[in-house]
Amino acid sequence: LFAGETEFLKGVVAMSGLPPDDRIEVCFAGRSNVGKSSLINALTGRKGLARASNTPGRTQEINYFTTSGGPYLVDLPGYGYANAPLEKVQKWQRLLKSYLQGRATLRRAFVLIDHRHGIKGVDDEILSLLDSAAVTFQVVLTKADKVKAKDRERVLAQVREKLSKHPAAFPEIVLTSSEKGDGIATLRAIIASIG
Ligand code: GDP
Repeated sequence: LFAGETEFLKGVVAMSGLPPDDRIEVCFAGRSNVGKSSLINALTGRKGLARASNTPGRTQEINYFTTSGGPYLVDLPGYGYANAPLEKVQKWQRLLKSYLQGRATLRRAFVLIDHRHGIKGVDDEILSLLDSAAVTFQVVLTKADKVKAKDRERVLAQVREKLSKHPAAFPEIVLTSSEKGDGIATLRAIIASIG
């Protein structure tokens, strides 16, 4: 499904630019610097496929990747930039809302959360948006190699507690480290199982 077969298709800035909905898709969301590019690169086995150098100027595009015979992988721009211009943030929020509500072939959103930090205020907004759009979402904890042993269970409990309040949340949480490769095969299998 992935290795060597994932290709960048296009960056989309408006609903009219979405590719034909001729297959299902899954999307990836997370605050900037959460490790989203690293995770997509690890999943696809292609370093540099998703740009790790996110800057506010590049945050507007929804990036589509094709997998051979599998779903589109959709990289949503990172959110939570401290100094992003309000006008751009609002434009992005409108596009995100339209996308989540209007893309019938979207099967699941993977919401990336830093295992060290858990779900923060900046994440709550997108979780609520996913609830209201009735898009099933699954939390992927990132940078598991960086979490201190004493914080691991506490953060997991915080995430579980938060998810219990979201009707669109998928109960299973995926623990990953793009650096060490932990959880990558699991996540690939989850994506492959989504029909
Ligand atoms: P993005 O902004 O969400 O796309 O985040 P990036 O993928 O660019 O990652 C942000 C920073 O976190 C980079 O310095 C990465 O090297 C680092 N990073 C990403 N994933 C991991 C991980 O699993 N473990 C560790 N230790 N660092 C990571």
